[in-house]
Amino acid sequence: MSALPPHEAAATQAALGAERDRMVDEIARMARETASETGHERFSAAVMAAMRKVPRHRFVDPSQERSAYRNHPLPIGRGQTISQPYIVALTTHLVAPQKHHRVLEIGTGSGYQAAVLCELVQHVYTVEIVEALGREAEQRLAALGYDNVSVRIGDGHDGWPEHAPYDGIVVTAAATRVPAALVAQLKPGARMAIPLGPQLGGQQFTLIEKSTGGRISRRVILPVRFVPMTGGK
Ligand code: SAH
Repeated sequence: MSALPPHEAAATQAALGAERDRMVDEIARMARETASETGHERFSAAVMAAMRKVPRHRFVDPSQERSAYRNHPLPIGRGQTISQPYIVALTTHLVAPQKHHRVLEIGTGSGYQAAVLCELVQHVYTVEIVEALGREAEQRLAALGYDNVSVRIGDGHDGWPEHAPYDGIVVTAAATRVPAALVAQLKPGARMAIPLGPQLGGQQFTLIEKSTGGRISRRVILPVRFVPMTGGK
């Protein structure tokens, strides 16, 4: 609930909307600048429309609301961060989401990446290892009206076998190697975006593709810095 009178609340919403538009312009600029590395000069119109729609300020701590639309990662508590908007857009674009898709996310965090995916696919399954973060994200997504998302508390190294296989998988914490369960839960013809590498520096954002024949290929997209994936055996 907003304590502001309706006209002021509307003005705040309009200002946040304008900031969101500028954020999307910035993402488009960065996509052009990184095209030689990523091979993608622009992201799909549907992905950009989703980035323009999701209220990122609702996914950050209220004290960070005014910074929500800067193209930076932001703290979401418990030492975790919400990824830079450009990275969220790139991740989403790379898995080529379609309306009928069911997508798995590892690392729910604030729920922001999940919300962007919810705008584009039929259902999002998201796994978070820190219970408090997962429950908070679940409530936040429900409060914003996202009813096509399921949150599970658990170790993403195991994926979410009950709903597999998936039309796409996005991993939003850096793994030292690709968890075998995730490869197994990827549909033939589907893609997984995953940051791979050591905890501190040297991570490569990687796109894994399972061919219709089941062959696995991988392509390095660009260097990144994600929080480490914990758990694992
Ligand atoms: N996608 C999130 C940002 C993720 S930050 C967003 O849009 O806000 C990375 C998240 O991965 C953190 O919340 C961290 O707790 C979680 N994480 C780390 N290791 C994990 C694991 N093994 N399984 C599931 N989640 C994990």
